[in-house]
Amino acid sequence: MRLDQLSRRHVLRFASVGAALFGMGLLPTPAHGQTRDILVIGAGAAGLAAAQFLRNQRQNVIVLEARDRIGGRAYTDYEFASFPVELGAEFIHGGNVSTYDLARRQGLRLLPAMNNERNYSIFLNGELIAAPRWFLIPRINLIDDGFFPLAEVREGSGAADINLAGLLQSRGIVLDDGLYRLVDNAIQAEYAATLDEQGAFGLLEFEDDGGGDHRIAEGYSRFFELYARGLDVRLSSVVESITWSSTGVRVVTQAGTQYEADHAIISVPLAILQSGAIRFDPPLPPEKTAAVAGLGSGAVGKLILSFDEPFWADNLELLYTDLPMQLGWTPGYGQDDSAVFTAYFGAASARGFSQMGVDGAVAAILGDLERVFGISGLSGRLQDARFADWLADPFSRMGYSYTPPGSAGLRDVLAAPLDNVLFWAGEATNAARPGLVHGAFDSGVRAAREVLGLRR
Ligand SMILES: Cc1cc2nc3c(=O)[nH]c(=O)nc-3n(C[C@H](O)[C@H](O)[C@H](O)COP(=O)(O)OP(=O)(O)OC[C@H]3O[C@@H](n4cnc5c(N)ncnc54)[C@H](O)[C@@H]3O)c2cc1C
Repeated sequence: MRLDQLSRRHVLRFASVGAALFGMGLLPTPAHGQTRDILVIGAGAAGLAAAQFLRNQRQNVIVLEARDRIGGRAYTDYEFASFPVELGAEFIHGGNVSTYDLARRQGLRLLPAMNNERNYSIFLNGELIAAPRWFLIPRINLIDDGFFPLAEVREGSGAADINLAGLLQSRGIVLDDGLYRLVDNAIQAEYAATLDEQGAFGLLEFEDDGGGDHRIAEGYSRFFELYARGLDVRLSSVVESITWSSTGVRVVTQAGTQYEADHAIISVPLAILQSGAIRFDPPLPPEKTAAVAGLGSGAVGKLILSFDEPFWADNLELLYTDLPMQLGWTPGYGQDDSAVFTAYFGAASARGFSQMGVDGAVAAILGDLERVFGISGLSGRLQDARFADWLADPFSRMGYSYTPPGSAGLRDVLAAPLDNVLFWAGEATNAARPGLVHGAFDSGVRAAREVLGLRR
């Protein structure tokens, strides 16, 4: 046995004994008071927003972050290309959202992205079809907002929730195989769930933030670096247990460090909660565990490829395909003429590519690109590749959350505080804006306000 394995077991044993004593009330119960810390677990968009909001209100906050960096599922690679390349979140979706305003106040440059549908293309049944010609394809709005009216009608009729595949069937909508694959791919990439996995009523919880997608020219990592200034963030602090009662919390990290506080805001990804990687003592109540289990942790991933030179149209903003690569775009669009291409995939495709590993995924996606653009020999033209496999990342284990049939309403249950001690943030807790950086950010502010309301 290696020494590090031995010491880790000791830490775990120590943590569980300490946790048990605290839960039984055998350890002294810490006194309440303004001077005690609020703990925020996770330094992604939600955790940082919560912590900075509380710090601005003169609260004493410590952020515990498992990784050796902040930002969570927003992470920029500054080495891969001559411009910042996003491995996780890439766009600010909507011009009227919190993160857009904040980026502007930080003096960051916002570059319009994916704003001109005339620059979109579809690869369907072996043919590359440029807009606006594909607007002639029947039911093509299903790759965009076409499911919303169908879901609204079903909800209005009083019928039970159903998955999107069933929703199509219930309305007698039949798509040919290629179009079905294209629509399924678009839904997988957007919602991190297949047509069989995503529920109809969950879609109706979304609020429309309007159009206008942007990239942050300096990268999301820079955005969070600027935003987190002044915060007490303890990196490489993997939280393993949270012991809680109506008087406070005790949090123990993998290294055996203990923190006590009046309140904890938990902002780790849903998949981390589902995995049991954090032990709660006493266990979470049934309605909370039902919400954790009932929501879906969807996979999404990216493969970013750089080539000797571009082989796509100069103005390509977005490519939909009926192939496993699902979506594609050029991350340097509007910034650089470099030959970098991003393949973006969710749900079944993301799980498949994750299982293949980087070499298998590169080979498969090069094959897809050769079919789309009618060329060969791309492996000889490939210069570099980055596989952002968030499913395999131990502190994410997912892309973003989705709502299976019957789970509408569970995000609010997940978000509800417990005993005024445990508070919940993160994209999965935001019913109106899930799976988004600004949704995560807003959820952190909401949780911070809930805590602050108790301390005033
Ligand atoms: C490939 C991809 C592309 C995306 N594209 C976009 C996009 O273009 N636009 C957009 O708005 N959104 C996008 N998203 C979604 C967006 O990234 C997320 O919704 C958002 O970043 C989630 O923030 P969060 O704070 O809820 O969670 P996270 O960012 O995951 O933060 C949670 C933090 O908790 C930490 N943690 C985990 N376990 C522990 C533990 N045991 N102890 C301590 N800390 C722990 C993690 O390390 C992490 O830092 C994308 C996501 C992915 C994966």
